Amino acid sequence: MTPEEFRRSGHQLIDWIADYRTRIAGLPVRSSVAPGSLRAQLPAMPPELPESFDQIFRDLDAVILPGLSHWQHPSFFGYFPANGELSSVLGDYLSTGLGVLGLSWQSSPALTELEEVTTDWVRQMVGLSPAWSGVIQDTASTSTLVALLCARERASNYSLARGGLQGEPAPLVVYCSAHAHSSVEKAALLAGFGRDHLRQVPADELHALRPDALAATIQADCARGLVPCAVVATTGTTTCTALDPIAAIAAVAREHSLWFHVDAAMAGSAMILPECRWMWEGVEAADSLVLNAHKWLGVAFDCSLYYVRDPQHLVRVMSTNPSYLQSSVDGQVKNLRDWGIPLGRRFRALKLWCLIREQGVAGLAARLRRDLANAQWLAAQFTAAPGWRLLAPVPLQTLCLRHEPPGLAGEDLDRHTLAWAERVNRSGQAYVTPAILDGRWMVRVSIGAIPTERSHMEALWGLLQREAVSKD
Ligand SMILES: *Cc1c(COP(=O)(O)O)cnc(C)c1O
Repeated sequence: MTPEEFRRSGHQLIDWIADYRTRIAGLPVRSSVAPGSLRAQLPAMPPELPESFDQIFRDLDAVILPGLSHWQHPSFFGYFPANGELSSVLGDYLSTGLGVLGLSWQSSPALTELEEVTTDWVRQMVGLSPAWSGVIQDTASTSTLVALLCARERASNYSLARGGLQGEPAPLVVYCSAHAHSSVEKAALLAGFGRDHLRQVPADELHALRPDALAATIQADCARGLVPCAVVATTGTTTCTALDPIAAIAAVAREHSLWFHVDAAMAGSAMILPECRWMWEGVEAADSLVLNAHKWLGVAFDCSLYYVRDPQHLVRVMSTNPSYLQSSVDGQVKNLRDWGIPLGRRFRALKLWCLIREQGVAGLAARLRRDLANAQWLAAQFTAAPGWRLLAPVPLQTLCLRHEPPGLAGEDLDRHTLAWAERVNRSGQAYVTPAILDGRWMVRVSIGAIPTERSHMEALWGLLQREAVSKD
């Protein structure tokens, strides 16, 4: 494709996306295609001869679009908001269009330095002290894996330079709450701790990790000759946005010299609002934390911000230094390949930069406050309505709720819950996520897509009331 052809098709593509975002509210939120339907519509073999971009556009409408569930839809209340604000979409195009890689500072100096500037902007936006240094990872899963690798190496005094974890005299143990994200378990397993050395510490009635139970579990492990290594706390758990008590967990971590990692992947965005910062009170005592700018904040996926207080330790764990990547300025610059797992690095800072500049901190804060107010409005409807129950506090934008008709309990209630949630999702008018909380199915409503206004909340409330009592 020549630059002139790119210009022509590119304008068409931008128009297509702008039209998509304009008409998205009229599309069914959840795709209703059957498994295999996309594969059945496309040739199994690649084209031998070139095709025109017009043909690709036709397939975009005919084949791809029906197979999409629309995360940017105003009535998308599933999973979590994964907003691709359009200014950040432009930043993402720019990154791809420039096609530069940050293998080292010298391989594209602006890439590294814009990442330093923008991660420091976000640090200030969420009220963290200058003691933190940030880097962009692809996902929170990666950020948490990096955190646990750093924890492992601190506790073992850099065992990777010797016999690795296999050469350690006693097993190292990782702690998290039973409500921690599955990525914590995955990271612990991949970092070599082993399932036998991952403790899911009990939570309290608000689903927050219990510091007393953490201390007791650690003591029991010490008594057995194990070595406590790291604790992961969550600000805003996935199922119900529970808030682990950061300051109290930090105190336990300090006492036992544990690495303390805070997973604020979802709720971290809310920390740009000073009135929300009590939720991670004590976070300055952590060693590392992750905040996904690609969720509620609005950066197009992927942009996970990983902050550490001791970058030298991170670099020591992650660094490799082959001759072809060395340069004369290495002493004066950051080489971000040493701040994470991959060598290659996209210019992700551009989409964060574009978002923050185009929205301003005030614009981002106003949108998040709108979403918090929408969540409180909907919570008030459920609280006031007979037959409905809110199952957890609503500190942020996620509601956990159940419709409980008199006389229905146990598995019958589960069947009722799953049936009405499916009716809601099948309607195409809204998308919600059923999940299990305290052993029973309930329905999560996660608010915060960019176009979601109060009118969509009102429509959702009406829809839930209708579908909860209608029949299949
Ligand atoms: C979304 C989420 C994750 C996983 O995020 P990825 O970036 O998809 O890996 C981890 N923890 C919490 C609390 C989350 O909300």
